[in-house]
Amino acid sequence: MKNEPKIVEVQPFGGFNQELSYGVPIALINKIKVGCLVRITLGNRRLTGIITSLESKKNKADYKLKFISSLVQDDPVLNLELIQLARWMCTYYYTSIERVLEGMIPSAVKVGMSEKKSRYLIKVTIKDLKEVEKKLENSPQQKKLFSYIQKSSGPIPLNETLKKLGIGISSANGLVKKQLISELQQKVERSAYDDEFKDSDEHTNSIITLTDEQQIASQEILQIISENKFRSHLLQGVTGSGKTEVYFQAMEETLSKRGGVLFLVPEVALAPQTVGRLRNRFSKQNENVVVWHSHLSDGERLDAWSALTSGRSRIVVGARSAIFAPVQNLKLIIVDEEHEPSYKQEENPRYHGRDVAVYRAKLNKAVCILGSATPSMESLHNVKTRKYSKSMLTKRIDGRELPLVHLVDMRKETKRENAPPILSQPLVEALRERYYNREQSILFLNRRGFNTTMMCPDCGDVQQCKDCSISMTFHRTDSYLRCHICGYRKPVPRFCPSCRSFDILKKGHGTQRIEDIAETLLPKKATIRRVDADMMSKKNLFRQTLNDFRKGKIDILVGTQMIAKGLDFPNVTLVGVIDADLPLRMEDFRASERAFQLLTQVSGRAGRGDRAGEVFIQTYAPHSSSIQFSRKGDVEGFIEEESELRKEFSYPPYRQLVRHIFRGRSKDKTLFYAEQWSKRLELNPIEGVEVKGPAPAPLEKLKGYYRFHFFYFTQKIPKFLRGYHKLRSEFPLDKEVHDILDIDANQLS
Ligand code: ADP
Ligand code: ZN
Ligand code: ZN
Repeated sequence: MKNEPKIVEVQPFGGFNQELSYGVPIALINKIKVGCLVRITLGNRRLTGIITSLESKKNKADYKLKFISSLVQDDPVLNLELIQLARWMCTYYYTSIERVLEGMIPSAVKVGMSEKKSRYLIKVTIKDLKEVEKKLENSPQQKKLFSYIQKSSGPIPLNETLKKLGIGISSANGLVKKQLISELQQKVERSAYDDEFKDSDEHTNSIITLTDEQQIASQEILQIISENKFRSHLLQGVTGSGKTEVYFQAMEETLSKRGGVLFLVPEVALAPQTVGRLRNRFSKQNENVVVWHSHLSDGERLDAWSALTSGRSRIVVGARSAIFAPVQNLKLIIVDEEHEPSYKQEENPRYHGRDVAVYRAKLNKAVCILGSATPSMESLHNVKTRKYSKSMLTKRIDGRELPLVHLVDMRKETKRENAPPILSQPLVEALRERYYNREQSILFLNRRGFNTTMMCPDCGDVQQCKDCSISMTFHRTDSYLRCHICGYRKPVPRFCPSCRSFDILKKGHGTQRIEDIAETLLPKKATIRRVDADMMSKKNLFRQTLNDFRKGKIDILVGTQMIAKGLDFPNVTLVGVIDADLPLRMEDFRASERAFQLLTQVSGRAGRGDRAGEVFIQTYAPHSSSIQFSRKGDVEGFIEEESELRKEFSYPPYRQLVRHIFRGRSKDKTLFYAEQWSKRLELNPIEGVEVKGPAPAPLEKLKGYYRFHFFYFTQKIPKFLRGYHKLRSEFPLDKEVHDILDIDANQLS
C-alpha cells in the first residue's frame, strides 16, 4: 500500500461535467486540500480544475492514472461547504457543476491573480515653483494633476483621482518621471469598503430603543440563534415597521459568537440606505462590511474575496450572487424582501437565491432569516407546514399610520369631460396640493406586461383561459388570444363578453409619457424627474437622482417598479399608482401576488416621516382582490384568499413548477420537436407529474428564437428529475433546437 499514490477527485473546468480521479505527485502530497485549484491534462488538453474531494471513487491506481501537474495557488479557493452547495445546486437545478462553480469563484481568483496593489501619489517638496510651471507649460493635464496633489495631504489613490479629474494615466506617469510627485504602492482593500454607499441617513446616529414588537421579534430570533442549529425564520413586518433593526440584533448576537453574516438584498443599487446603515452600525464595532455586487472590477472582487476568506471581514452584503460569498463560519443569512422575483436568476444556473440561502444555512447549521412585508406564498406555505418559524411586526414605527389609500376608478374617470390622459383628475389635484405644501410625491408605473392582454375599459374585464385561470395573451400576428400555459386559443372577441362594450382596449404608456403629461398638468416650477430601467446602466445618474430627491431638489419622482423597493424618503407624502392593473393582466398565476406585493410596497413609500401619507391607486379593476386587500393593508386576508385559489388549481406552493422551454430559429422545427417530446411524455408518463403544454411562450419570439414551453407540476423535484433525465437522455434533439429546464420557475414569459 505504501507505494500506492494518493488519488483525489478533480472537477475540471472546460466543458466537462464530471469529477475525475487524479493522482497526487509526491511533491504536492502535503499541500493538497479540498478546494485547491490545480492544473491537469485531460486527453491532450491542459485545463484548470478544482479538488472536490480527497477521497477518490477509485480506490486503486491503474496504469491509466493521470497525475495533477501543479497547484495554481496554495490556498483553497472554495471551502468544503461551498463545494457541497455547488453539488446540491447542480443536482437540484439540473445544471452543470461547472456553471455553478463559475459563479462561485471570481475569474481573477481562478487564473491565480495575486492581490492587487494600489498605486498612491504623494507630493514632493518643490523648491522652485516657477521652474515647475515651465516644465508643465505644454501639458495642461499634468498641470492639473500636479496642483491637485500639491493641495493634498497624505497619499492620494491614483485611480480614483484620475477618474475624478478626468485625466489619463500617462499624465501621472509623466509627473513621476519628472520627479514632481512620487508614488507608492500599498495593498489596500478600500475598494471592498468604498464609501459609495455612505448615504447620509438621519436615523443612523441616534440611539434606538426597540419597540415592544421589535423586542419580541428579536427575542424570538435570539432564542433560535442560541440553539446553534439550522433554522429558517420568516420576519413578516409591515413596511416601516423596523425590520432592519431586528436584523441588526440578530447580527450582533451572531458576531458576538464569532459567526459570519451574509445579508442579501434584492438589488444593491436600490439599497444604498440599507448598506449605509449596516456600515454605520457595524463600523463602530470595527467590523468591515464588504459590499458584493456584479459591478465589482476583478481587483475589487479579489479584495472582497480575500477580506472574507481570511476572516478579516465577517459581514457581506449584496444581491443574489453574494449568496456564494466565502464568508467564514457562516452562522446567519438574512434575505431582505425575500418575495422579490429578482432573487431568481433567469439564466443558467437558474437558481433561486432565497432557496439557495436556506440550503446554505442548512449546510452550515446556520440561521436563515427571511424578511418581508408581503412574504412569498412559498415562504408562507413553509410557515404553515412548520418548516419555518415566524415573527410579526404589525405596526409602523412611532405608531405612524399606514397611508390612506384612495381607489380611482378609471372606468369612470376616463369618461369625465376634459379628462386628462393617463393621470386622473383627483391624482393631479393631489399632486398640485403636495407641491404647494412643499411635500414630495412619487408616481409609480408598472411597465411590464404591456399591451399583451385585452381589457375592457368599461367594466375592466380581462379575457381569461377557462382551464388555467390566467389572463390570455393577444397575438398581433393572427389576432387570436392564447393561453400560455395550456395552449388554448380563441379569436379576439369583437365586444366585451361581460358588458357588451365594443371598446376593447390594448393601450400602453411609458414613464416618459407620464413625465411629459405631468409637466403639462402641474405648475411650471415643479421639478419632475424620471427613473427607469434604462437609467440603471448609468448607475451614477440613478444614484444622483435619488440623492437629489432625498435632498428635496425634486418634487415628483416618476418611475417603474424599481422605486417600489426599500426606499425611505421621509418627505414623501403622496404616492400615485398609474396603472395598478398591469401586473394583474400578466399571463401568470402569480399575477395577483405580484400586484398585491407591488401595491403594498409602493404604498409603503408614502408617509414614512412625521406627516401621514396618501396613496392614489388608478385602476380599472377596483374590485379585484389584490387591490382591495392592499388598500386595506390586509396582508393576511390576501394570503388566505390567494392560498385558496392556488390550492384549487394545485399551483405553487402546493406543487412545484418546472418550466421546460424549447427554442430555435425555425418555428416549425422547434414546434415539431416540442410535439415529439410531448408524445414521448404521453407514452412514458413520469409518475406524479402533471404536464401542460406545449404552448407558445408569451414572448414567443425572443432574440430571434421561437419558444414553446411545457409546465410540469410535481410534488418532489428530485423524483421528477430522475424520470425526466432518463427520458430526456433518450431523446435526441436537432442541433438547431435547444431546450432549457427551469426548476421552480418564476418567470413564465
Ligand atoms: P422596514 O424595513 O420594516 O420597512 P425600516 O427598518 O426601514 O422598516 O425602519 C423604518 C424606519 O424606522 C427607519 O428609518 C428606521 O431607522 C426607523 N426605526 C426602526 N426602529 C426604530 C425604533 N425602535 N425607534 C425609532 N426609529 C426606528
Ligand atoms: Zn389554459
Ligand atoms: Zn366589459
